[in-house]
Amino acid sequence: MDCLFCKIIKKEIPSNIVAESDSLVVFPDINPAAEVHLLIVPKKHIAGVGEIGEEYAQLLVEIFDTVNILVKKNDLTDKLYRVVVNGGKAQHVPHLHFHLLGGQWKKYV
Ligand code: AMP
Ligand code: ZN
Repeated sequence: MDCLFCKIIKKEIPSNIVAESDSLVVFPDINPAAEVHLLIVPKKHIAGVGEIGEEYAQLLVEIFDTVNILVKKNDLTDKLYRVVVNGGKAQHVPHLHFHLLGGQWKKYV
């Protein structure tokens, strides 16, 4: 499939993967909108929010467990941070992903 994030997951396109499990990868956004800008990406090609259903309950828990680990690792607990999921015309890569943004802000995603 011609999907940028699937290619990153398969390591066909290089990226600086900072965390990986059987079901997800985490890598920095190439065009960061904040001091910390990580993308948490399920390995399964899920096109977007509209495809989320009960079968992904465990995956969603794992994603937010990962967010909490990354918040601690990046010392964001007492700073401003957000988890953003874009959809519709705000979504540019059609493979579900969660932006973790924190610290000093540069722009909106
Ligand atoms: P979205 O607009 O929510 O679909 O976000 C897609 C994000 O992917 C944008 O913030 C881009 O900067 C980011 N992005 C695009 N190409 C790459 C890449 N090769 N490696 C890391 N992040 C990327
Ligand atoms: Zn994909």
